[in-house]
Amino acid sequence: MDEFGYHDGALHAEQVSIEALAETVGTPFYCYSAATLRHHYHVLDTALADAGLAERLICYSVKANSNLAVIATLAQMGAGADIVSQGELRRALQAGVPSEKIVFSGVGKTAEEMRAALEAGILQFNVESLSEIDLLAETAGALGKTAEIALRVNPDIEAGTHKKISTGTAETKFGIAWEEAEAGFAHARALDGVEAVGIDIHIGSQITDLTPFRRAFEKVGALLTALRADGHDIRRLDLGGGLGVPYAREGDGNNALPPDPRAYAQLIAETLGASGCTIMLEPGRLIAANAGILVTSVVRCKQGQAKNFMIVDAAMTELMRPTLYDAHHPIAPVLKDESATKNWDVVGPVCETGDFLGLDRALPILQPGALLAVFAAGAYGAVLGSAYNTRLAAPEVLVDGDKWAVVRARPDYEALLAGEAIPDWL
Ligand SMILES: *Cc1c(COP(=O)(O)O)cnc(C)c1O
Repeated sequence: MDEFGYHDGALHAEQVSIEALAETVGTPFYCYSAATLRHHYHVLDTALADAGLAERLICYSVKANSNLAVIATLAQMGAGADIVSQGELRRALQAGVPSEKIVFSGVGKTAEEMRAALEAGILQFNVESLSEIDLLAETAGALGKTAEIALRVNPDIEAGTHKKISTGTAETKFGIAWEEAEAGFAHARALDGVEAVGIDIHIGSQITDLTPFRRAFEKVGALLTALRADGHDIRRLDLGGGLGVPYAREGDGNNALPPDPRAYAQLIAETLGASGCTIMLEPGRLIAANAGILVTSVVRCKQGQAKNFMIVDAAMTELMRPTLYDAHHPIAPVLKDESATKNWDVVGPVCETGDFLGLDRALPILQPGALLAVFAAGAYGAVLGSAYNTRLAAPEVLVDGDKWAVVRARPDYEALLAGEAIPDWL
């Protein structure tokens, strides 16, 4: 569900006209819907509650969309944060996420990052190797603190998703091998400065079938039993993120619908509900993807011999997903247009053949300046942006009912070049 819809033939975000926003803000820009963010959080939280999972914590995965206003919207709903860097720690704290709801994930935490998170007093570190446990124990010990940790274990499960977002097989860099998990917990127990309180997994992203989750949760349950038999006091199960979302709009003919959050919650309750542990989740895409669109305008149409190209002012520098993950994003005119369509590759101005937003899309012939919306762009969109080709980052707008605000401004060229210098010896 999302709050982007047509009123009198014109696309709106909640009660705000996209055309009016484009006139004020300029294109390309990102537009997020606060009501949609809240709705997605609420649906998941309610599903967990209805499944009887009273002890739970949803830590929004900040990397999916790390705009301060987006994090703040979710923090006000009660969400915690799953962070993967010191920069994301700053964002989460600044957006009002209480430190006792922050978990720190990632394979490459440095001592400096650990210190910052320890000083902030975060809830939990999700650690991914024995050497990371050693460094954390040493760093916490030097500060006179004990870090609560969950060991991220790699269940060696094929998530059935794109290889670049599959994280739970033995070939990926993530987590501690399943066979070494118990030894990892024993290793942590022998150290001062850390206390192992949880098991953590995250098997991938955009998972559209519950089967891999079921297999992973069952393995977590078996590991929990073994660890408790060994005397470990495991109190939290962090089941990661990864539940997929629809990348389709009505009438798209794309029926590959991901599981309902209620079925996912039921599965958690069925496999791990009796564990007595707090259930933690780290959703990113599920919350943010359909809460954002990318708005772009047509620069010109170029009808070629083999292909027709609709050249727009957004590019892979704004939305990397099509070229990076072969992702499909619905694209539609902001002002409904019933005229005859042709098939177009919707491409940006960047000098790369991989610079496209959509291939072979049925769209009318549009005049320069006509607006297009690229849907389901709220997660892994703006955050993956780059300044390649010396392009200015697209601004971000948050809509809430009839209110809206620019929540990240477009930089100017002075800001873009500010950090660069030509040495005086050159
Ligand atoms: C990226 C990531 C998530 C979020 O994944 P989604 O598919 O966006 O829900 C959660 N946990 C970890 C450790 C991640 O790396």
